[in-house]
Amino acid sequence: MPEQTLPFTTGPEAAQERQLAAQRARRPADPLLSLVVPVFNEEDAVDLFIDTVTPLLDKAGQRFEMVFVNDGSRDDTFARLFDRSLVDRRIRIVNLSRNFGKEAALTAGIDHAKGDILVPMDIDLQDPPELIAAFIARWREGYDIVYGIRAARHADTAAKRVSAGWFYRVFNSMSPVRIPPNVGDFRLVDRRAVEVLRQLPERNRFMKGLFAWVGFNSIGVPYERPQRAAGTTKFSLWRLWNFAIDGVVSFSTAPLRAWFYVGVVIAAIAVLYAIFIVTRVLILGIDTPGYASLLIAVLLMGAIQLLSLGIIGEYLGRLFLEVKARPIYVVEGVYQDGNIEPPKA
Ligand code: UDP
Ligand code: MG
Repeated sequence: MPEQTLPFTTGPEAAQERQLAAQRARRPADPLLSLVVPVFNEEDAVDLFIDTVTPLLDKAGQRFEMVFVNDGSRDDTFARLFDRSLVDRRIRIVNLSRNFGKEAALTAGIDHAKGDILVPMDIDLQDPPELIAAFIARWREGYDIVYGIRAARHADTAAKRVSAGWFYRVFNSMSPVRIPPNVGDFRLVDRRAVEVLRQLPERNRFMKGLFAWVGFNSIGVPYERPQRAAGTTKFSLWRLWNFAIDGVVSFSTAPLRAWFYVGVVIAAIAVLYAIFIVTRVLILGIDTPGYASLLIAVLLMGAIQLLSLGIIGEYLGRLFLEVKARPIYVVEGVYQDGNIEPPKA
């Protein structure tokens, strides 16, 4: 395809370029960057994180704040954060009343961040802070969401890589909202996407799905995900499995609909088999043996009914949680500069 000068072209790329140009023009010269960092039992990572990220951003002349969400840590995480917040006013601690889980903690941080651009980050330095400059460069080009793509997952076990690969395949084949594979929560989000995100009332916060749901022009920046700098992972294989189920169930009703087709197929087989048996009886007379086929049919039907009931239960359980409409998180207090702010309504 020959190169054309942009403002006069047609087609999706030209349309996107026009949208990007419009956003570019709105970009503030000196944006406030909010790092949103959920933390749970990370006493060994706090100082390392702050001492790595702060000089980097200072050197780049980037205006920033750090919003740490203490997700009910039971170690010295809060004390370490609090000490650092006394000497650096750019550090704010949103202290949750107990452990609500990473997705809820992220939601709390996003609600409390004041920046023009937000970057959710893990505290273990697995989200390389050097990448923020590249994110911001893309944002200046007009993109509203710039996400980090884990190009090589050397730091992950083979089991995690394979299961993650399957997860993205299954999720994207079922959900009308596609999430890019190998993308975590580490990304840059413009304020206008944040405001859309904040309007989503659901309790089940599958954040990468919600970010994808928001839409807008987005682009990925590849990076190599390093090992955890300190501390240990908070996600066991079992927790990841449950997280994956949460993700699929909150973004797709395909698992519910699937049973309709299973039912159709089984009914068709049953009708054909019935015709076969009746014809056989009419031609060959009555034939009693059939214990094995009978038992198999009964067990198979029982298993299929339990499976489908289990799937309905998954949705019903979530419906129950959503209907109760309890808050996503509870703030014990917001600490900055040695002061405690009353929690936001
Ligand atoms: N985290 C949290 N609440 C939790 C579990 C984890 O706030 O209940 C935080 C954790 O402190 C870290 C981030 O979420 O900053 C990512 O956790 P982790 O590094 O253990 O996940 P992994 O990188 O192993 O997937
Ligand atoms: Mg990690």
